[in-house]
Amino acid sequence: MTAPKYHLTSYGCQMNKLDSELVESKLRQLGYVAAPAEADADVVLLNTCSVRQHAEDRVWSKLGKLRIRKRTDPGLVVGVLGCMAQEHKRYLLARMPHVDLVVGPSAFGDIDRTVEQARRKNGELAAEREPARTKHEVQGAGVVQVDHGVSGDTIVRDVRVRPHRSQAFVSIMRGCNMPCTYCIVPTTRGEEISRPVADIVEEAQRLCDDGVTEITLLGQTVNAYGRDLPGKPTLALLLRALHEIPALRRLAFITSHPNFLGPDLITALAELPKVARYLHLPVQSGSNRVLKTMRRGYTVERYLARVEQLLAAAPDFELHSDFIVGYPGETEADFEESVALLRRVDFAQSYVFKYSPRPGTVAAELPDDVPEAEKERRNQVLLAAQEELTLRRNVAHVGQTVEVLVEGASKVAGRLSGRTVHHRLVHFASDDLELLGQHVPVRVTSALAHSCIGELQAHDAAGARCAGPVEVGEQ
Ligand code: SF4
Repeated sequence: MTAPKYHLTSYGCQMNKLDSELVESKLRQLGYVAAPAEADADVVLLNTCSVRQHAEDRVWSKLGKLRIRKRTDPGLVVGVLGCMAQEHKRYLLARMPHVDLVVGPSAFGDIDRTVEQARRKNGELAAEREPARTKHEVQGAGVVQVDHGVSGDTIVRDVRVRPHRSQAFVSIMRGCNMPCTYCIVPTTRGEEISRPVADIVEEAQRLCDDGVTEITLLGQTVNAYGRDLPGKPTLALLLRALHEIPALRRLAFITSHPNFLGPDLITALAELPKVARYLHLPVQSGSNRVLKTMRRGYTVERYLARVEQLLAAAPDFELHSDFIVGYPGETEADFEESVALLRRVDFAQSYVFKYSPRPGTVAAELPDDVPEAEKERRNQVLLAAQEELTLRRNVAHVGQTVEVLVEGASKVAGRLSGRTVHHRLVHFASDDLELLGQHVPVRVTSALAHSCIGELQAHDAAGARCAGPVEVGEQ
């Protein structure tokens, strides 16, 4: 009997990508194999994201196409996983009756059994419907697994299932207890649940034993880690424990909330050289009035004070941020304060999002009163301001040699790309795929708005150490 084939597409954040790796891990343990293309798969799974309407629209559109395929391929199993499954639950089946399974983020732990159940039911249904199925709307197995089930964090991870040789994500907590008005995450992912330190260290050790040298810890409010656990271990404590793994060379974590950047974490960041030298600390707005209506729980002044404390202790850190433009009631003056804050902090990178109401959130009840064209203008202005800052930082790197963890082939033929300890993207001429996953020295020769171009320098065969002096972390 041939092994059943699955195809899994991830939408959205890094947490979703990691969840997809865990789901794949479970399916492979059951004997499933990855299909070379979606058209070859017996099971098509979409791990979805609800953070913006655009992400959901892509999934609805994909499901429409799968409905057409299922008319001629009734054995096909179609599954919707993740945040949209949690958010829409049975409505998803009402709108897309050909869907076979709907599994929320808290129920990935037994995804293998759920898929099997759907395959069985689906097979039975398909047999019952013949030969009339071409006349009727295609019906799926309709297995719904939300608000209950086995958490994905119970999955004993198969560390070999990962897209990169040297890099891996590790989930350290799920959910969020914060009340931000625009965000659907507390609804889709539930309350904060942290994993015990020992479990995380054990998983990280196994990943490093299998060749990983860079780990990125994931959590919606990653620096609030541990407050639900006995003894309340902190992110600082966890970073110190992971830092002890000899083979680990870089340790990053996303996404932080400004309110949890406390003195113990700042001290750890300053003291632990393996910790990547950037902090993603979304501010969202430079206006205290808007921050208050967003219920972010801090003021611009408080945010700036935390940043100053961090840079005083660890001056080689760079700050990354997220901004929302066009939030309900955001005036031109509010927006100008965001531009001013972006320049004042001198962020190295910012993601800028045009506000879009998410049904079920507090903000969705407010009038979405900034016209789309104005949201777009603010988006472009803020992006242009950030591009100017990023370019200036990139230019300052010209002439320096930086350590690059090689991630893959660049879009430009004959080049490889990787990232520095500041998460700065660097491209260099080489077609030696043996360099993938290695830490190599690259001399920066020119700067672009979003990346640097450089030349590979001499290094030892394993790429574990650079032969010449390496200036890592300098501005
Ligand atoms: S901190 Fe706010 S924006 Fe971030 S996940 Fe929690 S509710 Fe959403």
